[in-house]
Amino acid sequence: MAEIKIKEIDVFQVDLPYSGGVYHLSGGRTYTSFDATIVRITTDNGIEGWGESTPFGSTYIAAHARGVRAAIEEIAPHLIGLDPRRVDRINDAMDAALVGHESAKSALDIACWDIFGKSTGLPVCELLGGRTEHELPIISSIHVGDPAAMRVRVGRHRERGYVGHSVKIGGDPEIDARRIAESLADKQPGEFFLVDGNGGLTVETALRMLRLLPPGLDFVLEAPCATWHENLSLRRRTDIPIIFDELATTPSSVVQMIANDAGEGINLKISKAGGLTQSRRIRDLCIAAGYTMPVQDTVGSDIAFAAIVHFAQTIPERYLRCVLECRDMVTLKTADGAFEGAFDVHDGRVMAPIAPGLGIFPRLEVLGQPVMSLR
Ligand SMILES: [Mg+2]
Repeated sequence: MAEIKIKEIDVFQVDLPYSGGVYHLSGGRTYTSFDATIVRITTDNGIEGWGESTPFGSTYIAAHARGVRAAIEEIAPHLIGLDPRRVDRINDAMDAALVGHESAKSALDIACWDIFGKSTGLPVCELLGGRTEHELPIISSIHVGDPAAMRVRVGRHRERGYVGHSVKIGGDPEIDARRIAESLADKQPGEFFLVDGNGGLTVETALRMLRLLPPGLDFVLEAPCATWHENLSLRRRTDIPIIFDELATTPSSVVQMIANDAGEGINLKISKAGGLTQSRRIRDLCIAAGYTMPVQDTVGSDIAFAAIVHFAQTIPERYLRCVLECRDMVTLKTADGAFEGAFDVHDGRVMAPIAPGLGIFPRLEVLGQPVMSLR
């Protein structure tokens, strides 16, 4: 094939205010705005690819926005001159330039996939293995709060068509049990509930919380404890389905999960994994293990959402549990294009668009001038 080469990498920074005021997470963590890094890769034949990485603040996983940009500055010179369509080779080059820092590699990797799509005229989901035919259900993100207020917020999302709900809990067994019971009180047939501890429980508080619940509640417990040891210990003492999130990042961590029979699935977040190339590896491991996957990102705007939907569109319905409508969590729109008209979210469901690449057109006036350019 005729080579195309990465000629230029531009980095943009925007702040994405949280649409719900203050987002509360276990351990007293709060968030009001998210610092987004958006990357544009330009090739020698004039194709532009876009990617986004927006960490959930600095206290969620080992990622933070200024670190994303510093890592991109470290990696980017090693990508100039490479063919962006050779996505595994791009990842080899990124790993050779810098160990770890998946959240930074993610934006660069996604931009390469966007170029790959545009250069072939195919949407990214087709290149990732081909689209499934089902519509992807979207999931809400219900931050920690007063139990009755959480029930109201779940209800508001239900009215807007959401069929999945990610309910955050805080670490106090008695209040968390009420949060879960209230959030699930009006559960409709076909709805899916995650109860997400974000690593904020101990084995003791988790067991007490589970004992305080009324019987028969249908939910999956996500990331109850902070460490591998605690989660495995909890798992041995309960029959509640468990999925990992913060501890399941790289493909090797998922291999460890499978080897330990540590859960029933993972919350697959694209920037946490390091981009679409690594997410693809994780996806295939999960399918082989019979794991289910919500597909999300830490947070993000229109560009991150496009990557989520293209990726999730490749997962058989049996293994997919909802996609995150991250655009709904922030008030700034960074791109137009793919998800409009027939391809917008309808009745809480969405499908990947048919335009080449990610199918999005960033709003240059929103992104402003690059904070960094490498060539
Ligand atoms: Mg989670």
